[in-house]
Amino acid sequence: MAEATTAADTAAGEAARRRELIEAAAGAVVAHADELTRLDQAIGDGDHGANMKRGAAAVIADVAAIAGKPWDEALKQVGMTLVMKVGGASGPLYGTLFLELGKAFATLPPGTAPDRAALAAGLERAIAAVKARGKSETGQKTMLDVLAPVAAALAAGEPAAAIAAVAADAAAATVPMRAIRGRASFLGDRSIGHMDPGARSSHIIVAALAERFAAPDGATQ
Ligand code: ADP
Ligand code: MG
Repeated sequence: MAEATTAADTAAGEAARRRELIEAAAGAVVAHADELTRLDQAIGDGDHGANMKRGAAAVIADVAAIAGKPWDEALKQVGMTLVMKVGGASGPLYGTLFLELGKAFATLPPGTAPDRAALAAGLERAIAAVKARGKSETGQKTMLDVLAPVAAALAAGEPAAAIAAVAADAAAATVPMRAIRGRASFLGDRSIGHMDPGARSSHIIVAALAERFAAPDGATQ
């Protein structure tokens, strides 16, 4: 009986942790929707804020059911929700990112939370899937220009605060880039001088998650 209680407590703790992370990331997207709209108005069609807000709100609306599932299934459901709700170019791409991350975690022993190594490997796999889906690479002024350096910093063992800083710098570094993929590429040189909306949304998500992984002294838990 004592062992069963312990297992149940652990499962409840894991579900609460998933809920905390989902609400942090999705809540940050909702809070920054207007900023994402403005960025997409400058070099796209102005829908990135509304697209991402719709997807994040759908995930939040379903958070209890999603968080109640194991890590792999929870992430797959986040991905499927984003595919269905976000739309635009970013919906299938963010959907792929989370779906693949979930698939990567399917090999974890049951009841095990992904550690840093699993997260780094899973993110690398998920980024490869986004690249395949978007026929894109880093350096083309997209979300990949934030996601790839974040994966590298994670693999290198950087603490959470440093990973958030890497994401911020990487988003800022898309400003002088010329867009080669996505709607902004239609503008050619006129895409230069503006931050990529998808790079900024990736930064927002990474920063919100990193904050939840940072201990008060800045060490990564
Ligand atoms: P849409 O461009 O269809 O209006 P959104 O505005 O929601 O869709 O998303 C735009 C963002 O999607 C871009 O800022 C960019 O970061 C990302 N994006 C677009 N196309 C690609 C691609 N082929 N590969 C990677 N990311 C892409
Ligand atoms: Mg758009």
